[in-house]
Amino acid sequence: MKTYSVAVIPGDGIGPEVIRESLKVLKTVEEIHGGIRFTYDTFDWNCAYYLKHGRMMPENGLEILKDYDVILFGAVGDPSVPDHISVWELILPIRREFQQYVNLRPIKLLRGLESHLRYKNHEDLDFIVVRENTEGEYSSMGGRMHSNTPHEMAVQNNVITRFGSERILHYAYQLAEQRSKQRLTVATKSNAINHTMTFWDEIVKEVGADYPHIDTELYHIDALAAYFILKPETFDVVVGGNLFGDILTDLGAAMVGGLGLAPSGNINPEKNYPSMFEAIHGSAPDIAGKGIANPIAQIWSVSLMMDHLGHPDLGKLILDGIEEVVAEGEVRTPDLGGNAGTESMGNAIVSKIKELA
Ligand code: ATP
Ligand code: MG
Repeated sequence: MKTYSVAVIPGDGIGPEVIRESLKVLKTVEEIHGGIRFTYDTFDWNCAYYLKHGRMMPENGLEILKDYDVILFGAVGDPSVPDHISVWELILPIRREFQQYVNLRPIKLLRGLESHLRYKNHEDLDFIVVRENTEGEYSSMGGRMHSNTPHEMAVQNNVITRFGSERILHYAYQLAEQRSKQRLTVATKSNAINHTMTFWDEIVKEVGADYPHIDTELYHIDALAAYFILKPETFDVVVGGNLFGDILTDLGAAMVGGLGLAPSGNINPEKNYPSMFEAIHGSAPDIAGKGIANPIAQIWSVSLMMDHLGHPDLGKLILDGIEEVVAEGEVRTPDLGGNAGTESMGNAIVSKIKELA
């Protein structure tokens, strides 16, 4: 029997609603496999916790989390707490401390759904974005100067290290090796950002030399964004720094049906610390409490979690269950044009997974 310890952080708003459905899926996985068990501890670290304690998690929060196999994260955010607090005090410290340097985001159009790019069908929209998750533009290095003068300014440094770039590129190349097109597309902007991005390009060239059988394409971010819309069928694995990766993955999510369908993994490939799996959407206060949030993004994140734990067969089974329910089209949440609730959607996926197993 293989036992995995899961730290569950449901968070705010629709976070707990979609987490509930993803836990049903994990229970189903246990029933189907027989040789896998999950143990859970749930942590109420959210905006209500912040309003009570003045912080998003206890002082020893990271210490508490560090020995879990994985973290399942819902969403945090509430109108009563500024966004930068909920993000900077909970999500970013977890990503940094646990060296979750890969942010993995599949961009895949499920069967039965139409893209906003209406002339594209589902075979044309199936790639994966690898976003660097620990450095780049989201470093806190920088500051403000000359306040109360006409020359007031702010500077934020874009930190590109050899170590950080090499490890994300190796990960991306190795992922490309496992996929069909044997191609890696790299986001850059070295024609305008002449220190960091030229360094990045050099490292791409060096690391790429270890993978001569993989076709490397380097595009400036502006052109690459356009190609997402114009020729998404040419992509297989796309790698970018923190900011470019962030923007590209939201664009990608919009291309395949919106936030209700967009999963993510914050991955520590070495597995010396827990990885964290979360839907990329926020707490969606506008629909919280109504029972209509789409749980697919969170359930799909559980599928990525199974891949990470070394059970790609179970990851695929979960994704097949999701896709089959969407393709049948009978049970759909309002964001997908239906009138089913979160719970019916979760139940339909659970039944389908059992049927396909
Ligand atoms: P936060 O401040 O936590 O990021 P937000 O108000 O920015 O919350 P998001 O969760 O980022 O809201 O989502 C933006 C919009 O997308 C929401 O207002 C909601 O209508 C929609 N949305 C997000 N997630 C889902 C979901 N799982 N199912 C259905 N609709 C969703
Ligand atoms: Mg938001």
